[in-house]
Amino acid sequence: MKYFAGIDIGSTSIKIVVVDENKKLIGYKTSASGSMFYKYAQETLELLLKELEISIEDVVYIVSTGYGRKLYKEANENISEITANAVGAIAAASEYGEIKTIINIGGQDSKAISLDSDGNVTNFAMNDRCAAGTGKFLDVVALKLEIGVDELGEYHFKAQGTPLSVSSTCAVFAESEIIGLLGNNHSVEDIVCGVHYSIAKRIVKLVRRVGIKEGIYFDGGPAMNEGLVNAIENELGQRLFIPNYPQVTTSFGAAIIAVDSFNYEMAN
Ligand code: ADP
Repeated sequence: MKYFAGIDIGSTSIKIVVVDENKKLIGYKTSASGSMFYKYAQETLELLLKELEISIEDVVYIVSTGYGRKLYKEANENISEITANAVGAIAAASEYGEIKTIINIGGQDSKAISLDSDGNVTNFAMNDRCAAGTGKFLDVVALKLEIGVDELGEYHFKAQGTPLSVSSTCAVFAESEIIGLLGNNHSVEDIVCGVHYSIAKRIVKLVRRVGIKEGIYFDGGPAMNEGLVNAIENELGQRLFIPNYPQVTTSFGAAIIAVDSFNYEMAN
């Protein structure tokens, strides 16, 4: 059996997906990007293949994507994360129906990607100038509140009343605003909920730049945060489609492209 890998070297984390010849997801692994992208990507791939009991010789084509994609020298090909995200999202949502827009929130940026009915990227909008509306913003908030990012969703649903207003758009100012809110006796739950709504409002502005349509797919690490999902759904006024493994859509897309590129090379 031949296997294919998609390696997404993001600003915050490395995501690797292995698929078989039928583009079926066989396994995935994530790790922190740290400062040595290549070394950690290599180690993560080795660990994943060991877990899956697959020999590296059976991985016949590797596609890298993401911020650090060019640093992964063993890749047969590297592609933009926007293309990989679109391919992965369409495959992951095949049972859901047609998706028109992808919202991706990563560690350091957020994007809204518009697709046509054939799944081609027609437009995209990106915020990569500051941490507002990104995973980094959530990381700073969680750290200040002394809770894990994976706990933010739980806190969100315990908030009382109208969501608190958190106006800071910069992570540094948000930290001092949070200290002020804690000093005014606001609960951690209410602050978390307020932060989610402030991010949701920024994300809706981003989506407006490509046009709001029905059929929105949400991925990236922060899509695992059900509280943030809830806030974005309320601000958008529609349900979002969240895949089973939201953090690995882009690497899944890269792995699918690896199968197609390999088959194309074999046929030519
Ligand atoms: P990138 O591709 O830019 O490296 P990711 O899509 O991997 O970014 O997202 C990283 C972000 O995901 C982190 O900054 C963090 O805020 C968020 N995150 C990671 N794990 C979780 C989790 N279990 N629950 C909620 N959010 C998470």
